[in-house]
Amino acid sequence: MDEQAHQLIEQLAASHALPIEGYEYLVEHQSEQAARLLAEHARAQRIAIYGNEVFIRGLVEISSYCRNNCHYCGLRAGNASCERYRLDRSEILERVDMGHELGFRTFVLQGGEDPRLDDAMLCDTVAAIKERHPDSAVTLSLGERSFESYAALRAAGADRYLLRHEAADPDYYAQIHPADMPYERRMACLQELRELGYAVGAGFMVGAPGQTPRHLAADLAFIERFKPEMCGIGPFVPHHATPYAHEAAGTLEQTCYLLSIVRLIHPPVLLPATTALGSIHPQGREQGILAGANVVMPNLSPPDVRSKYAIYDNKAHTGVESAEGLDELDGRLQSIGYRLVVDRGDPRTKECD
Ligand code: SAH
Ligand code: SF4
Repeated sequence: MDEQAHQLIEQLAASHALPIEGYEYLVEHQSEQAARLLAEHARAQRIAIYGNEVFIRGLVEISSYCRNNCHYCGLRAGNASCERYRLDRSEILERVDMGHELGFRTFVLQGGEDPRLDDAMLCDTVAAIKERHPDSAVTLSLGERSFESYAALRAAGADRYLLRHEAADPDYYAQIHPADMPYERRMACLQELRELGYAVGAGFMVGAPGQTPRHLAADLAFIERFKPEMCGIGPFVPHHATPYAHEAAGTLEQTCYLLSIVRLIHPPVLLPATTALGSIHPQGREQGILAGANVVMPNLSPPDVRSKYAIYDNKAHTGVESAEGLDELDGRLQSIGYRLVVDRGDPRTKECD
């Protein structure tokens, strides 16, 4: 590693900030030694705040319908070959009840932007989850909705909202989204969610088509500015029925490198080792944890719909990627010095003793 990269890493670890050129330099000059140093700092800072505990979230994929056409995603409206399904309230509650028994204390309801997921149905479902499981947190990940809708869902009991910013560089955002998805609306949604008191999750894909170190530096500068409570970072993985069918996937190495950097930018961030990372490499989840991640989100959807929620090709949803595989996942994490816990896994601000 060159001297400048070394200095930038030490500066980042000590001050949790860099000029945007510093982030760009680190992304451009990724090396094994730089990755190792970043991961060492990231693990130390994560352990100071969260110990060796890994938080689990039960992911219930509630609808594969989507009105949008994000160029990268297999659920895009233009994909006529996508199998569409929608869970109703009782199917969602059944999965949540089962997840609670397995030890989950956070439930993530995720779906495409499905106009049939109206506020009445969603608020009713969120309220029912909170009533049955007052010890649990509800996270929503349902894309862009109106302020009124976000407010109603928050009032119904939703605690957190995941809405990846996808790209902080406006030109690059416009490159990977259709014209009817303006960058400004995405940013406004994130602000609105924060105003409403949600714990907010931003995030981005790694290695998406046309993405440059400068674009990633803009993402890192955004994380430094916005300080989201959660940050989802996973490799781009191509889907065969999208405009990006023949593009290369992002790499395990670059994703882990960025996970470490994000941990150092905002040490208390809740940072998942994502399913996409687990899907591109058999040890993806463990590598993500060793890079500074502290959350995993096993699939809690009804087994018969899992393969229909095909955001990208070969998305893992069995074994350690599934809620039923928690014991195996725990064993694998214990072998690298970490352990799963039964906990809501709220963001912490103070260091633990
Ligand atoms: N509709 C909601 C939630 C489902 S998509 C939303 O868009 O927020 C959840 C995330 O999957 C997106 O934020 C995107 O970053 C990621 N994603 C979509 N297509 C992907 C692909 N081909 N490879 C990797 N991640 C992808
Ligand atoms: Fe729809 Fe989300 Fe996929 Fe975009 S990323 S097409 S909003 S499901």
